[in-house]
Amino acid sequence: RSTQDQLLRVEGVTKQFRGLKALDDVSLTVSTGEIRGIVGPNGSGKTTLFNVISGLYKPTSGRVIFRGADMTGRAPYRLARAGMARTFQNLRLFGDLTVEENLLVALDRWSTLSAWRYALRPLSVLRRDRALRRSAAEVLERYGLTEFASLAPKSLPYGIQRRVEIARAVAADPALLLLDEPAAGLNGEEVRQLAEIVRSIRDSGRTVIIIEHNMGLVMSLCEQITVLAGGRVIASGTPAEVAVEPAVIEAYLGD
Ligand code: ADP
Repeated sequence: RSTQDQLLRVEGVTKQFRGLKALDDVSLTVSTGEIRGIVGPNGSGKTTLFNVISGLYKPTSGRVIFRGADMTGRAPYRLARAGMARTFQNLRLFGDLTVEENLLVALDRWSTLSAWRYALRPLSVLRRDRALRRSAAEVLERYGLTEFASLAPKSLPYGIQRRVEIARAVAADPALLLLDEPAAGLNGEEVRQLAEIVRSIRDSGRTVIIIEHNMGLVMSLCEQITVLAGGRVIASGTPAEVAVEPAVIEAYLGD
């Protein structure tokens, strides 16, 4: 594949917390239109990698190239503006806003113009913006959330909250979506629905990177998997390839 297809390139990223190397010379390339899995035992550096990619952490060394531009250490809102969105392991919805309002905030293009302008568009203004409300209605419909529009996320079942969080991330129209353990706490049926949602997100032209402990989901969903252990990439390849790697089997036996 040409470098044109490369949406994200992580080059030799190390992230050190005092004595601990949470990431140690990690490199990976994600192509446009891919669903990439990131797996590894607890503490292997997966979330730290997301935090570096999305700008929450500045790497100690190494680079993050997104859409051909060096974005290393850029603030999260600048990465959002460049077309990156993410979800968190622990939900970070605005619990006191309604589901619809959570989407309005995400859909508001002004919110990615700069960090401070965000504060200039209060909810009362967003609620009066008819184009914005139409877009929110479309997203609600697409994710089967219409019936929950006027409710606060914290009043909803956990599986629905997770879906709201993904809907909110996609509402910002990202080229790259980072999902941090989206299946955590979901039942079997909800995991099946999640897989469908992730595929539909990819089919709409987006690229997805997913950290996930549910191996069945990762194996069925991802074309390529990157395996971390102790902050290093110990294997990468198709699900079938990484599943038989001795280093991977060893890392998981020790988990
Ligand atoms: P994973 O997501 O694979 O479970 P993490 O990326 O959360 O792993 O953590 C990798 C290692 O880095 C762990 O040992 C963790 O304790 C450490 N770590 C993560 N974030 C910080 C931080 N902000 N300060 C100090 N250590 C951290």
